Amino acid sequence: MRYELMLPHQIRKAIQENWPVALPLGVLEYHGEHMAVGMDTLAVIKTLELFEKERDIVMLPPFYYGAASYAVAPPEGSGSVQVGGPVLAPFAEELFYGLLRIGFRNIHAIIHHQTENFVAGMPTDLAFKSGGRQAIFRFLEMERGEGWWGSDKMADYYAGHAEGDNVFNWVQVHPLMPAAMNGKYPFDHAGIGETSLMLALCPEAVDAAHFADNTGWYTKSAPEASAELGQKGVAMILEHLRTTLTG
Ligand SMILES: [Zn+2]
Repeated sequence: MRYELMLPHQIRKAIQENWPVALPLGVLEYHGEHMAVGMDTLAVIKTLELFEKERDIVMLPPFYYGAASYAVAPPEGSGSVQVGGPVLAPFAEELFYGLLRIGFRNIHAIIHHQTENFVAGMPTDLAFKSGGRQAIFRFLEMERGEGWWGSDKMADYYAGHAEGDNVFNWVQVHPLMPAAMNGKYPFDHAGIGETSLMLALCPEAVDAAHFADNTGWYTKSAPEASAELGQKGVAMILEHLRTTLTG
């Protein structure tokens, strides 16, 4: 369900049943002359909409204002919107803290932008990971008081940790395309991989009439894109979401 359309009794049900709460996290960034600037975020939104048909999740309104960076193109006339990681982290902390206060304990931000080396991290996902950690510490200290971790109630912490039952799992950040897709689906920026995803998920975000206007190396493979290839990627992403967004 879309969070903004939920009634309080539905929110209470989602909390009680521990529905995954998914935040589409992304940027607005130049993706060549042939593709819309919202591509990275649209890919997350559209796959979550498909996933929602098979299981109960809460979809938060998407956050588009991540750290696009000007690495691909300067912003003048290109459309990239850059909001730096140091500004995003406090925002993310407040957002996640607010969601914890509501009662959610199964919160997941999903991001597609700059995720090819997700373990090391990039500014947007690092900011939201950091914000999530800060929010959890702050929430627990507010709710349980200082010394909560050292109290006897937490004596099974490491045993629970091994089973994946951990307060630090209350807020997680995931790449849309997991490392397991490496070599199985092209990971690129505005090339055949991303363009195919958009053709499958959101064809109005691609205009083939503008392929010829591209000059960047990263868009060379874009004209080879197809909805069929994109569907293969979507199927892999949905498989990843099935194992990531669990109750
Ligand atoms: Zn992209």
